[in-house]
Amino acid sequence: MSSNSHIEWTDVTWNPVAGCSIESAGCTNCYAMRMAARLQAMGHAKYEGTTRKSGGRHVWTGRVNLDRKVLDEPRTWKKPKRVFVNSMSDLFHPGVPCEFIEDVWTTMADCEIHHFQVLTKRPSRMADMFADGRLRPLENVWVGTSVEDSAVLERMDALKSIRGVTRFISFEPLIGPVPNVDLSDIHWAIVGGESGPKSRPIEQAWVEEIETACRVAGTAFFFKQWGGRNKKAAGRELRGETFDEYPHQLVA
Ligand code: SF4
Repeated sequence: MSSNSHIEWTDVTWNPVAGCSIESAGCTNCYAMRMAARLQAMGHAKYEGTTRKSGGRHVWTGRVNLDRKVLDEPRTWKKPKRVFVNSMSDLFHPGVPCEFIEDVWTTMADCEIHHFQVLTKRPSRMADMFADGRLRPLENVWVGTSVEDSAVLERMDALKSIRGVTRFISFEPLIGPVPNVDLSDIHWAIVGGESGPKSRPIEQAWVEEIETACRVAGTAFFFKQWGGRNKKAAGRELRGETFDEYPHQLVA
């Protein structure tokens, strides 16, 4: 099932895969992990075996469940939507077979009226599949990776190696500075602080550093939220302004 999304930069989430495993520090308070535990406890077969209890909290088991039933869903949507692919997993998790990723790509290729946003913490695998010709660039599919701090900056290189696509970086949850980041060849940057009871704080200087890098490189800048325990109260204004920029054109 798809569902309307509360995520500021998309309209709907589409989840052909459920389940994941921790990849880096940005995953520590993974929202999907908590949500999957809840859905598993409610008896949803799609989430069966994806989480277990450990030290008083729920964690991923590493099992991923493929949901072939929803593969055709975007074909039934008559009005154009921005679609976030796999908010409850990572399409390029090693447990997802290449053939299934190709099936997801086929659906997206057939649904030109929608814009799909594919975000992964495993861009090397995505880049390899493009290099092998298993995936092809599609004008309506934006590909992105998460950079939560400078420790995972090499993800950007893998992303930049994929040509002919709209490329984006999600700096969320931003948990550390990313100084002197080179956003050339990146079309869109989303920046946001972590939210929830255990959220790690963001600093305005880190946000402004990325904003400046966007201006230098001509990258669209989207400031999603400050986050924190009460993200609604903290809001999403930066110096009294809202930044809701989107990429408008493909750059090779
Ligand atoms: S890659 Fe995404 S879905 Fe998987 S654990 Fe990390 S934050 Fe959660």
